Amino acid sequence: MNLRAIELRRVCLPLVSAFRTPLGTESVREALLVRVESDDGEGWGECVAGSDPLYCSEYVEAAWLTLRRYLGPKLLGAPDLTATAVQPLLREFKGHRMAKAALEMAVLDAQLRVAGVSFSTFLGGVTGAVTPGVAVGIMSSVEELLDSVSEYLDAGYRRVKLKIQPGWDLVPVEEVRDHFGDDLMLQVDANSAYGRADVVHLAQLDQFSLLLIEQPLDEEDLIGHAQLARSIATPVCLDESIVSAQSAATAISLGACSVVNIKAGRVGGYLEAREVHDVCASRNVPVWCGGMLETGLGRAANLALASLPGFTLPGDVSATARYFREDITPPFLLRNGTIAVPTGPGLGVEVLRPVLDALTAQSETITRADH
Ligand code: MG
Repeated sequence: MNLRAIELRRVCLPLVSAFRTPLGTESVREALLVRVESDDGEGWGECVAGSDPLYCSEYVEAAWLTLRRYLGPKLLGAPDLTATAVQPLLREFKGHRMAKAALEMAVLDAQLRVAGVSFSTFLGGVTGAVTPGVAVGIMSSVEELLDSVSEYLDAGYRRVKLKIQPGWDLVPVEEVRDHFGDDLMLQVDANSAYGRADVVHLAQLDQFSLLLIEQPLDEEDLIGHAQLARSIATPVCLDESIVSAQSAATAISLGACSVVNIKAGRVGGYLEAREVHDVCASRNVPVWCGGMLETGLGRAANLALASLPGFTLPGDVSATARYFREDITPPFLLRNGTIAVPTGPGLGVEVLRPVLDALTAQSETITRADH
């Protein structure tokens, strides 16, 4: 396809409740959406960068500038563009994986809509429904946490992930385990809140039979994660450290993790996410799909990704109601503990234009003529 225009939109979606993690507290999800226009039709992408550079170095304003100044113009000038050509074309620009992933997602959506193929089919999905987990933020009290977990279990979630940090770890985990029993699939995520000196402390989590501990140490400390993995019984999972299929292979070879959380934005797109899946599958490392408070667009793509065979653990691809009262697409619903994978062409979801317009804080369109 030949791109005629790329539209950037910043939308602000209020969260149903504030989400507190070791990285900060969010009450509104500010999302950067990308719409590509070609001679054959349009496609949508979502940049999962946050409002501030807290999860990683990328953030919405910087991604916008990068898309407008560098990445967008490069694709607007490319003849016969396909999704597989996006990353090679953008390789000269270092980093900015989330911004690149948004463009690739939009081009892939446009391409698959024309071809009449769903994201799931294209990526190699094997299931029509995904078992989601739910991520529960840091609360002001254990009572509040137990109430919150109870509500999610009543809603049908079967796996719970607790955000932890120093001062909010052993007690809340023990209380949740005691209160809900040994059958609850329970895991924790530290978002790099600990250091190598905390090994003995983190080993105390072993008594709670957790599925895994996610990203306990700094994202660049693979050796530290390998040492920790040898010292504790709880499986170590990496999130922030895995930025490509190559880094996944390295981390696994070093023994830094035995489980991988895959986020397409973090690794530069859904095609690279599939590569990470394949690398892990070839080494018998289970994977699951992480979440970045995506709108319905990113949620649709994540459901497609999570339908691949290596995604044997429940991911953070929760139903829309977990995050938003109103989304820019029809809501994804939790039914009998699962969420259906979209089957329509491309992302398989349609944007609700009046809602999108009402939630849009900023928009800009760049065209071939601009450059
Ligand atoms: Mg995480």
